[in-house]
Formats: sequence, C-alpha cells, structure tokens
Amino acid sequence: MGPDKIGIMGGTFDPIHYGHLVTAEAAREKFCLDKVIFVPSGNPPHKKNKEISPGIDRVNMTVLATANNPFFEVSDIELKRDGYTYTVDTLKEFIKIYGENTRFYFITGADAVMEILTWKDVSTILKLCRIVSAYRPGSDINKFRSMVDELERVHRSNIHLIEVPALAISSTEIRERVKSGITIKYLLPEKVERYILEKGLYK
Ligand code: ATP
Ligand code: MG
Repeated sequence: MGPDKIGIMGGTFDPIHYGHLVTAEAAREKFCLDKVIFVPSGNPPHKKNKEISPGIDRVNMTVLATANNPFFEVSDIELKRDGYTYTVDTLKEFIKIYGENTRFYFITGADAVMEILTWKDVSTILKLCRIVSAYRPGSDINKFRSMVDELERVHRSNIHLIEVPALAISSTEIRERVKSGITIKYLLPEKVERYILEKGLYK
C-alpha cells in the first residue's frame, strides 16, 4: 500500500458550484485520491477589497454541495484562523494532522495557478504538495503552459494538468445572476440554490 493521498480544494466558495465539484471529482479519480477536502477560505489577502459572504454561509453551502459524495469532506480550518489566511499555513496544518507520509494534491483552476507566484512562500507550497490544475474555458492555454513549465523549472515542482468538461461557471456570474434575478438553476446543486434564496444572499 502506498501513502495516503489527499486532495485539497481551496476556494472562496461564494458560492460553490459545479465547476468546483466536477474538478474535484476529476482529480480524485485521476490520481486515486483517498479523499478531497474542501477548504473554504478565511480571509484571503487577494480578495481583501471584495465583499465576501460570512464564512458560516460558505461552509454551510460547501457541506450541502458535497454531502452526497463519500470521498468529499469540508474543513473549516481556515475560518478558525485569525488574520489573513495563507495556503502554506493550511498545508502545514494538514501535514500535522495527517502525517509527513501523506501525499497532498492541491487542486486549483488554471486561473489560480497563474497567480501562484504571488502566493506567500510559493517554493515551500510547491515542496509540500503536488498541484493539480484544471483548465477552465476562456483561459489562455499557451500562457498557462509556459507558466507551468517555468514553475517546474524554477521550483522543480510537480504540476499536473487535467481537463475538465467545459464549465464556464464562476461564482462571480452566479452572484450577478442572483442580484439581477436571473435563474441559477443547473449551475450549482439544488440544495445550495435553495440556501442562497432562503438566506437572501447576493441581493
Ligand atoms: P469568483 O468568481 O468569486 O472568483 P470562482 O468561481 O473563481 O469564484 P473560487 O472559489 O474563487 O471560485 O475558486 C476556487 C478554486 O476553484 C480556484 O482554484 C479556481 O481556479 C477553481 N475554479 C473556479 N471555477 C472553476 C471552474 N468552472 N472549473 C474549474 N475550476 C474552477
Ligand atoms: Mg476565482
């Protein structure tokens, strides 16, 4: 038996949608992950100028969305932390919980990998985990590939690319739709849709 393999899907999840879920499931299957932990972000430095829904709502929606997949879990590890939250600290906490022998796969969309060089302690992050990056429609594939090559050259990192079915879904679009009263049906799980409407989020 090899080491345990755990996927970590970080995000604001405001709200979680089928883009996130399809990507996590594709990564789980492709790399035979034992589970994928969804980690709603606490206070991410790169989103400090934007209004974000309360952590409790983002966790609740993530729990609702993942409940029917036995391989999916939700962690509120970042929401318990004060101050800005950084991926590197989250990874270190998971290593403490699961042990040094566990192999971590950090799952992101292509847009997040493009920004990875701006993250705190990027070289440490790339030593602590492998990155799984999903193509997202509209992303510049060539720019993406050269970015990945550069990261692998400089940091000797392990970056895997996966293709996910064309999902042009984003949380931004869902929030805008709700605000304008346009349907969000079929973009995200029905339970999450109901939660948004009942709580009056994104109005
Ligand atoms: P926002 O529009 O508010 O930025 P988002 O839809 O990008 O939200 P995030 O919570 O910011 O969602 O993203 C969490 C992670 O999921 C990031 O790594 C992001 O790249 C990835 N991701 C987001 N949407 C998709 C999608 N449709 N397909 C694949 N990956 C996605
Ligand atoms: Mg985003």
